[in-house]
Amino acid sequence: TTHLVWFRNDLRITDNRALHAACEDPQARVIAIFIATPEQWKQHEMAPRQATFIYQHLQALQHSLAERGIALHYHQCDDFADSVSWLKDFCASEKVDALFYNKQYEINERQRDLALEKAVSDTVMCHAFDDSLLLPPGSVTTGNDEMYKVYTPFRRAFLARLTESDSRSLPAPQARENVEKPVMHKLMPFDYPLAAIGDDFAIGEEAARNQLRSFCREQVQDYLEQRDLPAIDGTSSLSPYLAIGVLSPRQCLNRLRTECPDVLEKTDGGAFGWLNELVWREFYRHLIVAWPKLCKHQPFVEWTDSVRWRDAPDDLQAWKNGKTGYPIVDAAMRQLNSTGWMHNRLRMIVASFLVKDLLINWREGERYFMSQLLDGDLAANNGGWQWGASTGTDAAPYFRIFNPTTQGERFDKAGRFIKAWLPELADVPERDIHQPHRWAEKQHRVLDYPLPVIDHARARKDTLAAFEAAKKRS
Ligand code: FAD
Repeated sequence: TTHLVWFRNDLRITDNRALHAACEDPQARVIAIFIATPEQWKQHEMAPRQATFIYQHLQALQHSLAERGIALHYHQCDDFADSVSWLKDFCASEKVDALFYNKQYEINERQRDLALEKAVSDTVMCHAFDDSLLLPPGSVTTGNDEMYKVYTPFRRAFLARLTESDSRSLPAPQARENVEKPVMHKLMPFDYPLAAIGDDFAIGEEAARNQLRSFCREQVQDYLEQRDLPAIDGTSSLSPYLAIGVLSPRQCLNRLRTECPDVLEKTDGGAFGWLNELVWREFYRHLIVAWPKLCKHQPFVEWTDSVRWRDAPDDLQAWKNGKTGYPIVDAAMRQLNSTGWMHNRLRMIVASFLVKDLLINWREGERYFMSQLLDGDLAANNGGWQWGASTGTDAAPYFRIFNPTTQGERFDKAGRFIKAWLPELADVPERDIHQPHRWAEKQHRVLDYPLPVIDHARARKDTLAAFEAAKKRS
């Protein structure tokens, strides 16, 4: 029998449920496939950096699979529809009896998988696994069997279920017996813009696991004190690996439990604080399955669709370029543009600024983030944007509007983060870093840094009025 493993967002051999299941029968011939779909990726605004990150991990995966006697085949076509018809033919030509894959939960991906199962149903047994989550969507529900709309009760129910569930990590498969190491054909680069990735994120699942281990050993205890300070490496920086499945959430949970065995009891500790973030990740993924409209650019709270957003292309561009005149916002956007990663506190600040200071449609921000992020993930990104824009489930209320200056003062008091990204503010003293023009005026100096694009106090009033009017209209 021939087993085919279809790799998508699970580019690892350790704790990979589909791969593990495909390898269980020692007699089976196991082969693997990855299908690049550049046109589809364009439609999904995938960042060129993320495509590059995937490509590099694919090379690593090809290598580790080959060492186990499994050939990774590779094909490139346009979109998901093409991938279905190509895969059907591939299954026929390779005489595949069973197909193994890990589920993806976004709507286009789910439709693709349904189409594929239908197309091959006569000849191929399909085995789909819940792998990228600690608990499958639909398994954590209210007494009425509905998905939670509020996070805290979701988390309570989630943790209760988690303790009953089997979340052990699976080992990487053994080398296949009596199989020669397959020839490793060079993987053709994707027909997609490629982008350089800095040294911050080493390639390979071992590198990701090492990072996880050292974070859980050395840093997680201080997570609550450090997680909001962008000048410090106080968070795990594992999101790029989790987003493309180089690391699984079970590996995160199990490593956390090994290093901090009392994580579930000590609910005021850093380890529990970090686990809480993993549960947010689950929450947003469960939400997109319960409400697929979230994958289709629709807000969760319908009346927010009547907000009259400003059409302000220059302001949007200033935000994208990190030139709004608000130092914390600009430093954050430059971090994103240059590394593909942004600290969570800053994601919240820049999202609030775009939507509630500039009154620009949150979808612009969501799209721009996807086009830049190394960790771009539809559910987390949409969840984050809809939270910040007050259009989502359990989102910040619309009248909660961050003041970008005081946010900077609170979370980057001495301006260390700001100075790292805005060299034009190098001379500005610490106490003036959040309002550099005030200092420059007193000093009779001219800064090579833009004046604020908008007055926060006025913007706040306009935004409140716009949301209130929308609410009345609906
Ligand atoms: P840690 O603090 O170490 O957290 C561990 C892991 O938990 C992360 O790697 C991530 O997988 C998960 N996680 C943490 N916070 C969240 C959260 N709020 N929502 C969902 N999962 C979370 N995260 C993405 O992975 N991809 C995105 O595209 C994305 N877009 C976002 C957009 C906005 C507007 C906002 C406010 C948040 C977004 N996040 C996104 C969530 C969060 O900012 C990042 O996951 C986090 O900053 C990654 O850094 P880390 O790995 O050091 O996180």
